[in-house]
Amino acid sequence: MGNFYESLLNNNIGRNLLKTVGLPTPIELKRYNAGQAHYFSGRVLIGTSKQGELLNDIMRNLKAADARVCFPANAHTAAEIIEAANAHQLSIHAIEASQLSSEKFDALVFDASGFQHATDLDQLYTFFHPALRQLSNNGRVITLGRPPLKASHGEQAAAMRALEGFSRSVAKEVGKKSATSQAIYVDADAGHNLDAAFRFVMSAKSAYVDGQVISVQQAETVEYPDWHQPLSGKTALVTGASRGIGESIARTLARDGARVIGLDIPAAEADLGRVMTDIGGEVLLADIASTQAPQIISDTLKQHGGADILVHNAGITRDKTLANMPQHWWQMTIDINLAAEERINQTLFEQKTINPGGRIVCVSSMNGIAGQVGQTNYATSKAGVIGYVQYMAAELAQQNITINAVAPGFIETAMTDAIPLMTREVGRRLNSLSQGGQPVDVAETIAFFANPASSGINGNVIRVCGQSLVGA
Ligand code: NAP
Repeated sequence: MGNFYESLLNNNIGRNLLKTVGLPTPIELKRYNAGQAHYFSGRVLIGTSKQGELLNDIMRNLKAADARVCFPANAHTAAEIIEAANAHQLSIHAIEASQLSSEKFDALVFDASGFQHATDLDQLYTFFHPALRQLSNNGRVITLGRPPLKASHGEQAAAMRALEGFSRSVAKEVGKKSATSQAIYVDADAGHNLDAAFRFVMSAKSAYVDGQVISVQQAETVEYPDWHQPLSGKTALVTGASRGIGESIARTLARDGARVIGLDIPAAEADLGRVMTDIGGEVLLADIASTQAPQIISDTLKQHGGADILVHNAGITRDKTLANMPQHWWQMTIDINLAAEERINQTLFEQKTINPGGRIVCVSSMNGIAGQVGQTNYATSKAGVIGYVQYMAAELAQQNITINAVAPGFIETAMTDAIPLMTREVGRRLNSLSQGGQPVDVAETIAFFANPASSGINGNVIRVCGQSLVGA
């Protein structure tokens, strides 16, 4: 937290001053800490609809956490909850309604997969209304359901789609505690693919991911690897790795056990060399927009036995209103941010240099979703990235490869430091968590996509923006 606003937040007089003038006083986000043995540690209140089908998958994951699991004693599904906990030898405690207001919870988890009709939505009120005030700072709210468009009838589709509006609104209500809320839609028969998504959103690795909807599809089951070294034995290539978000991606993937090849333009050799020396990675100098780049990348990957993880992070901005924009700025931005990725992928697909089980992650942008004045070229390219990812997901699934995208919002980098103070403060605060994200927040989301257990996470676009009010 290295800015003037944060220095005010760090002392009582400063915090009181900010409160008095009506400015937000955000609570610092808890991020991943290698010293924490489990992906989650704390108290969880759990609820389910009648015929909830994901309870077993939730309990399996809670068994792997340091979780003290409770349920409301008056829940009409208490018997199902106890049975699912017993099946996983998980001790579970009933909390009387009269006790709820004196308890604190680090996570509230509700399985809504059994919802059939609009009237079932009352169960959300019954579970969350008394519990929400008891959520701890940096707490988690997770609502699980089935994909609305795969519902059996219109009323069920409506009830499932309602979860999204519910979860996003809760995110806005709990954001002042630096707590987050996400919805997870799990395909029928994909419960065994839930683990990577569930553990990511429950953990501190998702600190700046808020108000998002994650889809889990049916895929090969991969047991969740070691929490601290999930990418052990994997080879990753990261473009634009010399600084900013790309540097953080390279460092995070290496922290998680991957062998990293960092790519950047020749002019960035010194910076890239410093980063790769730090993480034991390898330097690859290339301009991704050059005609030779796809073959250079493919040849390098062949020498390493192919890529398990490919992160298309390199990108540029050339900002001007469309009326004032020179044509070469338009072309250059589309080419580097979008067309170069497609050309590289095409060559890697043809030459089979992405290994089976491979993970491709593209970096889009919130402005590609919302649009931005002076960034028609950039937003066009970044929206194109989303279209590419969503289309290619089905095709690549047949080769056991996934492709997903992150869309960062306001991330504290050299780029955002250069924005004038007042504009920067507004950009930084205009989200549910009232603070900017760190490059590592984007990197953690990419590492989640890259996780071997994320086999059912395909074609997702996750915003890393603290639930920005822009384009939400
Ligand atoms: P950055 O600091 O400018 O880093 C991008 C890196 O990519 C630089 O090292 C850059 O090298 C390299 N690069 C650019 N063109 C290249 C090319 N043709 N071939 C190889 N490398 C190239 O940017 P960042 O802020 O970390 O952003 C990283 C990604 O996140 C970008 O795709 C960006 O659009 C996206 N993003 C960032 C934010 C944010 O808040 N920072 C928000 C949304 C999305 P040179 O610049 O030295 O040429």
